[in-house]
Amino acid sequence: MIITNCAACAAPLAHDAPRCVRCKTRYCNSTCQHDHWRRGHKQICKKIHRGGDAEQYNAEKEHKEAVAVAVEACADDTKGQTCYICMDAAHWKTKEGLVNGYCACRGTMGFVHLSCLAEQAKLSIEEAIDKRLWSGGELNSRWQRWHVCHTCGNEFHGHVRCAMGWACWKTYASWEDSRFAFQRMSIEKLANGMEEDVFGRLEEALSLYAVYLDVSQRSLRAGAEVSTENLLAAKSNIAGTYSRLGRVEEAVNMERDIYDDSKALLGPLDLQTLSVAANLMHTMSMLHRFDEVKAFFLGLEAARQTLGPDNYLVLKLTSAYAHGLYYDPTATRDEQLEAITMRISAEGYCACGAAIVPTLRILTRTWRKC
Ligand SMILES: [Zn+2]
Ligand SMILES: [Zn+2]
Ligand SMILES: [Zn+2]
Ligand SMILES: [Zn+2]
Repeated sequence: MIITNCAACAAPLAHDAPRCVRCKTRYCNSTCQHDHWRRGHKQICKKIHRGGDAEQYNAEKEHKEAVAVAVEACADDTKGQTCYICMDAAHWKTKEGLVNGYCACRGTMGFVHLSCLAEQAKLSIEEAIDKRLWSGGELNSRWQRWHVCHTCGNEFHGHVRCAMGWACWKTYASWEDSRFAFQRMSIEKLANGMEEDVFGRLEEALSLYAVYLDVSQRSLRAGAEVSTENLLAAKSNIAGTYSRLGRVEEAVNMERDIYDDSKALLGPLDLQTLSVAANLMHTMSMLHRFDEVKAFFLGLEAARQTLGPDNYLVLKLTSAYAHGLYYDPTATRDEQLEAITMRISAEGYCACGAAIVPTLRILTRTWRKC
């Protein structure tokens, strides 16, 4: 599932690509498979099968590497320290060293083994399942333990976030219980980890987000419960990663797609729909599609009327519009002045990050005039 390329030629695979009967390694076709067998798969096929087949084997291997990178990066700071969970310096089973500085915990609470953290997350979820605690968000909040510190409540970051992503995926890669979507959800967890990694593994994150979306859509078609929010979030992650990679054209196409979905599923006045609209307008103005920005903004008049001029999302939309108008070479002098007034007053909501002085009242008055 995570392995998306042919083991022999690295071409992208279809989800139902043929696989090795013993170890489930996947290939484009039998030619690639025969070629790979002769080039050495013959020697490791049994080993991969004993390791739980291709996907699990790969997850364990990647996890081990990610843990080693994280421990190595912390090595200077963790000398002589002990894990706050198991109280030892070296982990009793994996012998791995400690990590630190990945959340807001400091002092004796700031050193831990990644294996201990992962074990805690896993056990907490198992306990919730045993005690049938899956209503009222309990299971969901325990699921957060894969990326949020239980002590300080901050999200993990850097190498630790990435290693925990792999730990999560390796835990659920072979989880077939369809009552819980852990297998699918852990792909997203891993993708988030890749995105947060200090090496900036954005391309890998992007391909994982795409896998997550594909798996979610296929699960939905097969009759599984997949929430609208989940699908929209999957697409937002893809759009966001495109933006971070500088692939703005692809980002805007994905954002438009999300906006259309959101409008159809949640309604045009829904807050989430409007939040997507604000992002879309900002990306369009970055691409200098000023006519579209303007038309789009005028089309949202009903939302502005309903929510009122001081609403956070209305301000965000206004800011994105003003940003587009300000840089539009065809804008009239009056329009430019209007844009400046809006930008000065839009409470710092210009998504371009420009420092904007907050004076909501001026904005409100500007709008009443229009
Ligand atoms: Zn191939
Ligand atoms: Zn094999
Ligand atoms: Zn420990
Ligand atoms: Zn913490």
